[in-house]
Amino acid sequence: MSLNEIDIHAALKKYFGFSQFKGLQEGVVKNILEGRNTFVIMPTGGGKSLCYQLPALMQEGTAIVVSPLIALMKNQVDAMRGVSAEMGIAHVLNSSLNKTEIKQVKKDITDGTTKLLYVAPESLTKDENVEFLRSVKISFVAVDEAHCISEWGHDFRPEYRNLKAIVARLGEDIPMIGLTATATPKVQEDIIKNLGITDATVFKASFNRPNLFYEVRTKTDNVDADIIRFIKQNEGKSGIVYCLSRKKVEELAQVLQVNGISAVPYHAGFDAKTRSKYQDMFLMEDVNVVVATIAFGMGIDKPDVRYVIHHDIPKSIESYYQETGRAGRDGGEGHCLAFYSYKDIEKLEKFMSGKPVAEQEIGNALLQEVVAYAETSMSRRKFMLHYFGEEFDEINGDGADMDDNTRNPKEKVEAKDDALKLLRVVQGTSEKFKSKEIVNTLRGKNNALISSHKTNEKEFFGIGSDKDKSHWMALIRQFLVAGYIRKDIEQYGVLHLTEKGQEFLNNPHSFLMTKDHVYNAENDNAIVGASKGGGVADEKLLKQLKDLRKSQANKLGVPPFVVFQDPS
Ligand code: ADP
Ligand code: MG
Repeated sequence: MSLNEIDIHAALKKYFGFSQFKGLQEGVVKNILEGRNTFVIMPTGGGKSLCYQLPALMQEGTAIVVSPLIALMKNQVDAMRGVSAEMGIAHVLNSSLNKTEIKQVKKDITDGTTKLLYVAPESLTKDENVEFLRSVKISFVAVDEAHCISEWGHDFRPEYRNLKAIVARLGEDIPMIGLTATATPKVQEDIIKNLGITDATVFKASFNRPNLFYEVRTKTDNVDADIIRFIKQNEGKSGIVYCLSRKKVEELAQVLQVNGISAVPYHAGFDAKTRSKYQDMFLMEDVNVVVATIAFGMGIDKPDVRYVIHHDIPKSIESYYQETGRAGRDGGEGHCLAFYSYKDIEKLEKFMSGKPVAEQEIGNALLQEVVAYAETSMSRRKFMLHYFGEEFDEINGDGADMDDNTRNPKEKVEAKDDALKLLRVVQGTSEKFKSKEIVNTLRGKNNALISSHKTNEKEFFGIGSDKDKSHWMALIRQFLVAGYIRKDIEQYGVLHLTEKGQEFLNNPHSFLMTKDHVYNAENDNAIVGASKGGGVADEKLLKQLKDLRKSQANKLGVPPFVVFQDPS
């Protein structure tokens, strides 16, 4: 070990009490200590914070940490104060501080006590803060949750866009560190470009979560009952159920309670006090289940969440990965169960229809990937990792049998001839069409785009009319993942031939495609109050629920909540 290595191991032990680095941490820490721009891509729970905290503690000056959420910053500051006797070791700089507090923060920074200064991007733009920070020694700027910089990320924050310019005002050659758990190549590209760190050393960890089991079930009218049955089969374990609307969150939480499951609701419509009460009840295991909108989760670190159920399908693979990522953080069991119906996709599309066109295009492109994930018959892990630009060996890879499709393989059929037809159409339409138009061309269905390209006059028009749309869509998805075609995300999903696809055209060979299958949901009369259709129940049912709750709630020891307000 070099002296440097002894130093950083000693510092790791001293400040954090850990004897070993996790994953890529050591390389990252060294790279930052060497003053280089650094880009860290690690899944949630991978240990990104330590990557900048440790070098900040070891270096002269103050490290600025840009973070999107006050709650996240506060947690980290508390944690930092725990590793050092010095209160001033870490501070948050935001608009809620009073004059005395600001004076103290500035003093601690000036005299070198403060190693980490957490700021929201809005605070960093303020002239008075820029002026002050220009006058002190900054060791580096770390941008946490850096995906907020990209519209293709799941949490776009326009203020993140100005960071490069602001940091340039703080001084020359201040190293920048971007950190994110977002794995899509497109978002990563945006981060590097927007932070201006094209020379950054990139550390990318695998996004494979081998202990998570992925399953998709068809969402039927009995979805609420299906969820209750699943939870009862997992009695006593902690779990999260995600719903799209606040109203559904409240309703489902009630239905669970009525059925003897200890559950609380959680969404952004509750006031802060209520939210933190329900959150604590879940963390402290006073209740087993939290039914929530996506407002629940960021920064939540409960290691033993055993299942994450999606009552409604999320709007991107990325969100799904993040939300399911909250299961099994301790490495133990984690069941990720999503209920899917195409109707929900149409609902999400409708939500988006009011938004600016560019945003809609992005939203739809992301949504189509969700459809593909839900409908795929291949290894879901392989699908998801492929989406993140990662190869996965579905036979020998870590966690290879941990999904429904692999455990219960769907029937495989020879699709060599169809594959050939597909590639001929992709090539014949000059690689200008998205999946939908390709399928229309194959099936001989005309539309404005096809006639404007005179595609309906070509010899390949309609060569696949013997098969239905879902067959062709499935083949496209499987062919994408197998690498014969690729989708151009900048062109919102236009399909292109790859080299491998070109070879297939020249030299066709066997291609086994898996057939999709549909689950059969059972009925269960023991379940009360579940609404039909997976939507929100009508007034009569809600009244019934309220009455039922009176007899159940006390037994469960859960707080009353009958709020039913603005559905969003
Ligand atoms: P991320 O920001 O990547 O989601 P965090 O920084 O919140 O992850 O870290 C996740 C957990 O991993 C934390 O509980 C942290 O204490 C723990 N952790 C980080 N580094 C190590 C390490 N070297 N050894 C053991 N635990 C670690
Ligand atoms: Mg983090």
